[in-house]
Amino acid sequence: MMLGLLLARAGVAATVLEKHGDFLRDFRGDTVHPSTLEILAELGLKKRFDALPQHRVEQLDGMFADGIHALGDFRRLRPFPYMALVPQWDLLNLLATEAQRHEGFQLCMRHEAETLVHDARGRVTGVVARSPEGPIQFNADLVVGCDGRHSVLRAAAGLQPQNLGAPMDVLWFRLPRLPTDPEGTYGVPGYGNFFVLLNRNEYWQVASIIAKGEADRWRARPIQEFRDRVARKVGFLANRVDQIGSWDDVKLLEVRVDRLRQWHRPGLLLIGDAAHAMSPIGGVGINLAIQDAVAAGNILAPALLAQGRPDESVLAAVQQRRLLPTRIIQALQVLVQRRVIAPALASQAYDKPVELPRLARLLLKSSLIRSLPARILGQGFRREHVRPARR
Ligand SMILES: Cc1cc2nc3c(=O)[nH]c(=O)nc-3n(C[C@H](O)[C@H](O)[C@H](O)COP(=O)(O)OP(=O)(O)OC[C@H]3O[C@@H](n4cnc5c(N)ncnc54)[C@H](O)[C@@H]3O)c2cc1C
Repeated sequence: MMLGLLLARAGVAATVLEKHGDFLRDFRGDTVHPSTLEILAELGLKKRFDALPQHRVEQLDGMFADGIHALGDFRRLRPFPYMALVPQWDLLNLLATEAQRHEGFQLCMRHEAETLVHDARGRVTGVVARSPEGPIQFNADLVVGCDGRHSVLRAAAGLQPQNLGAPMDVLWFRLPRLPTDPEGTYGVPGYGNFFVLLNRNEYWQVASIIAKGEADRWRARPIQEFRDRVARKVGFLANRVDQIGSWDDVKLLEVRVDRLRQWHRPGLLLIGDAAHAMSPIGGVGINLAIQDAVAAGNILAPALLAQGRPDESVLAAVQQRRLLPTRIIQALQVLVQRRVIAPALASQAYDKPVELPRLARLLLKSSLIRSLPARILGQGFRREHVRPARR
């Protein structure tokens, strides 16, 4: 959607296909980091974004057995010293509304891309999509696969991502938020499984992190055991865990970390999770996908306007631009997965209290050190900026 908006704004006719009838799904995360806030400001959308229902996070906290400790601090970042938690459907609707103001932009909901169209020389020249009216062929100078980590277009191009491994999956559910609850957004460390609580104002979106492939084992147990586990780990939720009615209220989200060696073929470019699926660690995936879109928009728009069908070298330039920041963030995610998450999940000592180690407590007293994780996650590496629109 972001790339569609950027291309249309630059005067390139762009069609976005979305297989669902709306954006109302709550499993893609909603952390809008300062890097994305800057892009929204550059697009003149910040005021409208600010009007969306949201929760601003200035500090990332860990709920340890010995109390709440600040682990990351956004307040030193400029120009936006916070991360916004915004339901992703609101953000996508905002981008869609803005894109539709531009001539040449078309959004086709309930259009599921199924396969690629090639010319005689093997260059991708379009897609065939399933729509309520039956199959439709879209011809295009360039097809961009932004269809997520199970990308159909990537598979149709015969591209195989390299799996970088993830030791966990996520059980995802929500519980009401009461006025007496704490204000923040929290990680709740633990052994065997642990929690992340996203504050969505009226309710808590809760991620319960479990070992990879263990979901069936969890779900084979009575739901009451799971409720008790939540209540023991997150004390203030104990009075409402019975609102998890059954396992139907708890969705399994599978975690993957992978990356394509080559993000393009003649006539086809892949970006976002389709090129590099991100772990939920740090809540950076949607922000990286947006950075890819901005880099792609900056590089592709002039080429599409000048050449029509861009050469593959132009597509390679997008990968070249985004590969290093993607590699760095994925390497950090894999490091945290191996060093912290995998050992914690391998333990069966579910009720053993976790305290913040003394050294960490000492180091985190420094606001400079606390701002480091916020800077890495919030602003990332090689930040992209929207070029002024030129028609
Ligand atoms: C459990 C979990 C939690 C996460 N939490 C966060 C978080 O809090 N913050 C964060 O920044 N990142 C988070 N991530 C990572 C994040 O979800 C992804 O990195 C990000 O969504 C990638 O964006 P994308 O646009 O590339 O793909 P997606 O967000 O997956 O979007 C792909 C879009 O394409 C559509 N589509 C798919 N196939 C087709 C088709 N064939 N035809 C037409 N349309 C199609 C889909 O409906 C969807 O709208 C999380 C990941 C996981 C697994």
